[in-house]
Amino acid sequence: MTTALKIVIIGAGYGGLVTAIKLQRHLKNNEAEVTLVNKHDYHYITTHLHMPAAGTDHHENARVKISELINEEKINFIKSTVVQIKPEQKEVVLEDRVLSYDYLVAGLGSETETFGIPGLEEHAMTIRSINSVRLIHQHIKYMFAKYKVNPSRTDYLTFVVGGAGFTGTEFVGELADRIPVLCEDFGVDPSIVKIYNVEAAPHALPPGLPGDLVEYGMDVLRRKGVIYKLSSPIKQCTDEGVMLADGEFIKAGTVIWSGGIRGNRLLEQSGFETIRGRVKVDPYLRSLQYRNVFVTGDCAVVFDPDGRPFPANAQIAVQQACNVARNLVYITRNEPLEPFVYDYKGTVASLGKGEAVGLLKTIKIKGRIAALMKKVIDARYLFVIGGLPLVIRKTSIR
Ligand SMILES: Cc1cc2nc3c(=O)[nH]c(=O)nc-3n(C[C@H](O)[C@H](O)[C@H](O)COP(=O)(O)OP(=O)(O)OC[C@H]3O[C@@H](n4cnc5c(N)ncnc54)[C@H](O)[C@@H]3O)c2cc1C
Repeated sequence: MTTALKIVIIGAGYGGLVTAIKLQRHLKNNEAEVTLVNKHDYHYITTHLHMPAAGTDHHENARVKISELINEEKINFIKSTVVQIKPEQKEVVLEDRVLSYDYLVAGLGSETETFGIPGLEEHAMTIRSINSVRLIHQHIKYMFAKYKVNPSRTDYLTFVVGGAGFTGTEFVGELADRIPVLCEDFGVDPSIVKIYNVEAAPHALPPGLPGDLVEYGMDVLRRKGVIYKLSSPIKQCTDEGVMLADGEFIKAGTVIWSGGIRGNRLLEQSGFETIRGRVKVDPYLRSLQYRNVFVTGDCAVVFDPDGRPFPANAQIAVQQACNVARNLVYITRNEPLEPFVYDYKGTVASLGKGEAVGLLKTIKIKGRIAALMKKVIDARYLFVIGGLPLVIRKTSIR
């Protein structure tokens, strides 16, 4: 009698969850025993987090119970935190038990990269999880309340967002939309509120967008009140604000850092070869050192034909997950593996309510049509993980 292959997936983000869902669909009974481990009992939709962070949407719209997305008769779900991977022993150490595997899928996502900038870790908040955005949302309201009891402290209503890539841009767009509502609620003159978006590069918005779209996006956000500080990296962050490279100090009650990510530290701590925490993989997304360990999403570094790493994003994480799931099915059936090929579909960045900018493959889109496209992209992902009922439940029309 042959025993079923043991597949363990760690992390139920875009990479891990989609791998599990695809395996659940395509593996036949007894072909493999699949276990999914995640530190929360919910999956969070990171591409949505800028909204609950700013308070323009409820955080419940950015998460879904994992038990609603998988069939627990086919996938064994364990809510626990991974503390170590022992690839030589083919074991994963959780906070409360040890799991052994034949094949591992690592999808633990990323961590904030502060590039060693003093004070950022201690004094800046990050848009990374449901809990971190709930903190930001409450903190913003708290700053308005603090200002009301001490109106000489206008710096309480200064918000600094470090990093003007995807996360920073989408967040300042939402924050700019939220400020008038908060001003009305707290009885504050809107001219007192300042939103700075600080960026080391000479332009804002996600890399890869053509110059005219970048200009369009920045104009939209400037009209909403965002003040750009470009080519001015943050040199230091304190409990009073940020010091920029040009010597300017911005006194601020809120600093949010969205200036960089690195792969989850657990992988390098477990002995995997990494570049900025992201595991080097072969064309089938397997670790170069351990061919029974597949790596997906932000944890993996994959290069384009010119040798440049693809950006870490949800689109690539989902495509990798589909490829990993297919290859695991092939392994159970002794069939040849398929290499991963990235199919770039485009990039759309939200600029707040009814405004966005981006590319669909090579076609430029902006304004309302881009905002609608952003909704379609979000809805498509919800459809992949939870079908039409999830799309209907979680999609908000704004
Ligand atoms: C605010 C924001 C906006 C974004 N917007 C976009 C966008 O518009 N378009 C786009 O393409 N990309 C966007 N991204 C990037 C995209 O979200 C990520 O690239 C994507 O989530 C990567 O998927 P992943 O599976 O690697 O990791 P994640 O989706 O981060 O999942 C990792 C999972 O692992 C779990 N985990 C972590 N450590 C442990 C542990 N030790 N034990 C157990 N479980 C653990 C986490 O809880 C999480 O469930 C955005 C990111 C952010 C933060």
